[in-house]
Amino acid sequence: IRSKLPQTGTTIFTVMSQLAGEHGAINLSQGFPDYPCPPALIEALHHAAQAGFNQYAPMAGLPALREAIARKLQQSRAVSVDPDNEITITAGATQAIFTAVAAVLHAGDEAIVIDPSYDSYAPAIAAQGAHAIRISAGLDGRIDWPAVADAVTPRTRMILINNPNNPSTGVFTAADLDALADIAEHHDLLVLADEVYEHLVYDGVEHHSVLAHPRLRQRSFAIYSFGKTFHATGWKIGYCVAPPTLSSEFRKIHQFLVFCVNAPAQHALVEVLRDPTHWQSLPAFFQSRRDRLAQGLQDAGFQLVPSRGTYFQLADYRSIRDDLDDVAFARWLTIERGVACIPVSVFHADARQQGLVRFCFAKQEATLDAAIARLK
Ligand code: PMP
Ligand code: GLN
Repeated sequence: IRSKLPQTGTTIFTVMSQLAGEHGAINLSQGFPDYPCPPALIEALHHAAQAGFNQYAPMAGLPALREAIARKLQQSRAVSVDPDNEITITAGATQAIFTAVAAVLHAGDEAIVIDPSYDSYAPAIAAQGAHAIRISAGLDGRIDWPAVADAVTPRTRMILINNPNNPSTGVFTAADLDALADIAEHHDLLVLADEVYEHLVYDGVEHHSVLAHPRLRQRSFAIYSFGKTFHATGWKIGYCVAPPTLSSEFRKIHQFLVFCVNAPAQHALVEVLRDPTHWQSLPAFFQSRRDRLAQGLQDAGFQLVPSRGTYFQLADYRSIRDDLDDVAFARWLTIERGVACIPVSVFHADARQQGLVRFCFAKQEATLDAAIARLK
């Protein structure tokens, strides 16, 4: 078979979680909580299944869920979104990303990806016969916008951004969005904004969404994940917000990729979206875990890149072992020290980014303490 993705192996999240399992390591690699999701969510799911909502949902998603999302956007961001024509419920952010890319990129097109980038972006682009043009951003989250503008060619159709960024934890400023809008408008580009960590920003920093930026709103697919917001990554449910013309193309692909997504889960989410206190409490909930892990990693000899968003912490391990590349260090830490992490070079097009690993702090405090004890 002539592979469509000859450069692509098995995703690092599968590789490291599997290695953690084989060696009984505490798994701070793949990003998922080890504590329960909100009891109200479980109860609502139970009710939905019992009430008989067990058949296909409408293709674009349950109208009540799309309306609940529109209300949330109105309340939290003062953004007006038409639930009928601008919101599509997806099987997680991963499917939304693939669908948006497949909906607009033709073979031979180019899309700009800003590294470090989440590992699904480049393969989703390559699967369309399109090309990912990858630009490196600083680990401080700073993006060289003139370099992004220089990378645009007549074949460029789209720029993909991730705000807050996994794994750099960088959070866009209002000026970043203005710079992005200038480039996108000047070259008539679409934007894919992966905002799955929208609620996970710390130290009082504000998250600026493309949806609240009128010029970007018109040309963006904004993508979200209930897995992140409700501590339920296994539910695989998220959504895409985009203007009607973009949503219409998105749905043409969506209907034949999955048709619709899990109906009882959609009913359950309608119920829990009534209460904004859940997502409003997320920064404080995660910030204390971030600080707990950061202190422990520092005491163990790691040098940290401050975590500003997401539920990840980057750590430079070279004062512990400077003889290993990051992939080898992550394996060593997992097998020999019993704590699994993710090497950061995999989020870059080249292996130049070295010396850093990523730890997930979406864990019970006892799990973080046990990992810290092993690292000391
Ligand atoms: N984008 C980013 C930046 C992520 O970190 C993740 C998941 N960890 C996803 C997309 C995928 O989200 P989902 O699990 O909803 O598919
Ligand atoms: N996004 C999660 C992470 O960064 C993993 C999701 C997955 O395994 N696909 O760890």
